[in-house]
Amino acid sequence: MIEPGATIGILGGGQLGRMIAMSAAQLGYRCHIFTPERESVAAEVSAECTVSPFTDSAALARFAAACDVLTFEFENIPTAPLAALEGALFPGVRALEIAQDRMREKNFVETLGGRPAPFAQVDTEDDLARAVERIGTPGILKTCRDGYDGKGQWRIDSAHDIAAIRLPDVPCVYEGFVDFQAEFSVILVRGRDGEVRFWDSTENRHVDGILSQSVWPPCDAISAQVEDARKLAREVAAALGYVGVLTLEFFATANGPVFNEMAPRVHNSGHWTIEGAATSQFENHVRAVCGLPLGDTATIAPKIAMDNLIGKDALTAHQSLADPAAHLHLYGKRDARDGRKMGHITRVWHRQ
Ligand code: AMP
Repeated sequence: MIEPGATIGILGGGQLGRMIAMSAAQLGYRCHIFTPERESVAAEVSAECTVSPFTDSAALARFAAACDVLTFEFENIPTAPLAALEGALFPGVRALEIAQDRMREKNFVETLGGRPAPFAQVDTEDDLARAVERIGTPGILKTCRDGYDGKGQWRIDSAHDIAAIRLPDVPCVYEGFVDFQAEFSVILVRGRDGEVRFWDSTENRHVDGILSQSVWPPCDAISAQVEDARKLAREVAAALGYVGVLTLEFFATANGPVFNEMAPRVHNSGHWTIEGAATSQFENHVRAVCGLPLGDTATIAPKIAMDNLIGKDALTAHQSLADPAAHLHLYGKRDARDGRKMGHITRVWHRQ
């Protein structure tokens, strides 16, 4: 067990790191952020910060030596330099390697009995033509790596669209468009001893590929499919010897849950757990990484909604404070750029 008072190293300096660090502080830990960016909203609430590229092995070694245990809040970190940290890093490098690459992730999940949308690897224009012919349209072409919040994605509505697409110079995957009723995620925490706990699954609504709202309770289609989806998430966590919070995103369809993607970390669709669950995803991540007993994940209210504050939404968000159900979180980012996640509001209604 990592005793309170010890230092948790967090790779990545964004809002997820900020909220992990705030939970860690509550439990008496210090945090040390490692980030390539000079401005870090996680560093603002942490004891120490190293500003360095993720590829600087010497800086990583100094950072690891100054910390008692390590975790990450961002998955697009080059994995080769992390090999030297294996053993101190939770979750481990393999979870990152799989989650960083959409092809790998889909293949991995399929071997465990999961069902992604039909997909094909696309490296050339011929591959794309073949993929569209086999899978059909509509579909989405996605870069295998470095995509998030709908970035690095192109919708293809008919075979004619192919001619207009300039393939990026990186491996891609073409996937069939899923005719879904709703979207949801399964968020679990797995302790060092293998114990697994799940939070309830909210209904996740996206606008322009970015999560806009998570709502509890979800629609019936989701409620009916959560158990199946949890089975897969548990298998993924076990296969990876996972420690910490893990998220799998799904489409609820007429034929059951279709796997979309996984994130080896705390997740935006779990922000509601700060006020809406007995123990938040952030606190349980800290507990798991430090080898402490896991907290109760039960939902504590009959109705909850989490709204993301994107870009300029944040500038008027303080008005929500007049609402007794509202809990406002601002991440402290200076520049309210379009599409940027600036904060969120969770509303918890204790009575129906
Ligand atoms: P992603 O970054 O892959 O999670 O995509 C962001 C959002 O785009 C998802 O949450 C969905 O709303 C939508 N999306 C992505 N892939 C598909 C798909 N194959 N079929 C339907 N909608 C999709």
